[in-house]
Amino acid sequence: MSLYRHADYERERSFHADVVIVGTGAGGAAAGAVLAEAGLDVIFVEEGGYHPTSSFNPYMSESVPRLYRDAGTTAILGRPPIPYMEGRCVGGTTVINGGMAYRAPDDVLVGWERLTGDAAYGPGGMAPLFAEVEATISARRQRPESIGDDNRIMHLGAKKLGWKSEVNPRAQDHCVGTNNCVLGCPTGGKQSALVSTMPRAMRAGARCLTELRAERLIVENGRCVGVVGRSPDPRTRRRFTEVTVRGDAVVVAAGAIHTPYLLLGQRVGRPSRQLGRNFLCHPNAKVMAFYPFDVKAWQGVSQWSQVREFRNEGILFAENMIPPWPAGAAMPWHGDASMALLERYNQMLVTGVLVEDSTTGRVTRGPLGMPLTRYDITDWDFHRFVEGVKRLSELHFAMGADMLVLPFRGLHVARSMDDVRKVTVDTVKRKHIELFTVHLMGTARLGARPEDSVVDPNGQLWDLPGCYVADASLFPTAVGVNPQVTIMALAYQVGRRLADRLLGRRARAA
Ligand SMILES: Cc1cc2nc3c(=O)[nH]c(=O)nc-3n(C[C@H](O)[C@H](O)[C@H](O)COP(=O)(O)OP(=O)(O)OC[C@H]3O[C@@H](n4cnc5c(N)ncnc54)[C@H](O)[C@@H]3O)c2cc1C
Repeated sequence: MSLYRHADYERERSFHADVVIVGTGAGGAAAGAVLAEAGLDVIFVEEGGYHPTSSFNPYMSESVPRLYRDAGTTAILGRPPIPYMEGRCVGGTTVINGGMAYRAPDDVLVGWERLTGDAAYGPGGMAPLFAEVEATISARRQRPESIGDDNRIMHLGAKKLGWKSEVNPRAQDHCVGTNNCVLGCPTGGKQSALVSTMPRAMRAGARCLTELRAERLIVENGRCVGVVGRSPDPRTRRRFTEVTVRGDAVVVAAGAIHTPYLLLGQRVGRPSRQLGRNFLCHPNAKVMAFYPFDVKAWQGVSQWSQVREFRNEGILFAENMIPPWPAGAAMPWHGDASMALLERYNQMLVTGVLVEDSTTGRVTRGPLGMPLTRYDITDWDFHRFVEGVKRLSELHFAMGADMLVLPFRGLHVARSMDDVRKVTVDTVKRKHIELFTVHLMGTARLGARPEDSVVDPNGQLWDLPGCYVADASLFPTAVGVNPQVTIMALAYQVGRRLADRLLGRRARAA
């Protein structure tokens, strides 16, 4: 038996392994795979449930509560508040992500090498890890028959305006373009951690304790030696079973919000002042375009390409078709007005302006067992959103759109560029821009010195031996591109170094 559920903890409440890994997302599963393959006994502790490919379907009311934390209702506080989403299931957020597979750019990695003082995190050190990750998740371009008209409109629109549009590498093997990425890939084509790194770890002997939330670390003689978790009854969410999991090392990979939340809760010693700071999130603003012809954006892959013309300004454009339910929720009106637009769902194309962070936020422990995340965009971000939305609007009108819904309260409708030009940093208020995010990073950053980082270049907490981090929290700075490949590369690095250390210690003791 290697996969445990709530009911199993009635019989067995105490576990031991060489390494305990909290979280099975991009980072946790990758670290677990290399540790288990090195011959170490690995146990994953995963708050969410195990949902195989055969269970995935397009029904949001069933899929969202099952796969998303708090049914996707989570938000970052700030001006403006920013809703965010993360996965809570075996495979973590990779199960619900779009599959884009980009390497962190070299200019970012040059900075990381300087900040960590470790060439392994520079362009040369990361290149072989990226290649390994890309092989693991089968990062490649889509087959032409899986591309939809929303993809073509974005790509051709960029070309028409003379802008650079790049075809995305995606984590996929025979993706047929069902466009169900955000509710779990029903064919198993998307190479999420559920179908790539987790099976590797399990084949190498790892165990996975699902439906178990790690609530505190066990610290003995100044070392982290395990976690205590609670498993709620998955039906009632009421009856809890406490489970103890001990190990020679603990790797926390609960994502950039729940990793600092868990680590901040450890009462022994004083946690780093940096822990929870440096929160980064690549905020996004959406532009919904309506065309006078059917686009049927739900047919074909989500995001075949990205407009990268403005990457030097930290701005990307991409299409991101969403199902009718969130599309309806994103409409700025109610009742008939909203219904009239939804009736044009087949003519709709949802696109986004992604802005690279120019500031940082902070995660702290809030009441009722919940993290509090605070992030305020800067004046420069505000300018870039206004400018980015204008440029993206230009693309849509150049391609024949007859109406846009813009992300600015009070100035939602644009029927021409004249309407769009009314949007300026003086006519919209910063708190009235509608943002969201799906990239959470940076809250337990790697670094060369404890004064300005949380973990050392091995991924170990400066102030808690035996405790490691292997997820998006490690990012010293934002990457400006989709982060999963970089998260996995860092997790391979942390996992391998930890394996060498534990196996070396074992060999010396023998
Ligand atoms: C809709 C959407 C689309 C995206 N598209 C892309 C894309 O195209 N390309 C890309 O590169 N990135 C994309 N991302 C982002 C990417 O998936 C994430 O950045 C990445 O998965 C984060 O990895 P992680 O290891 O930090 O955390 P996660 O993958 O979120 O894994 C964290 C895991 O820890 C578990 N956990 C949390 N707290 C606890 C606890 N206390 N105890 C036990 N378990 C716990 C969670 O349940 C989860 O399984 C997208 C994200 C979303 C939401």
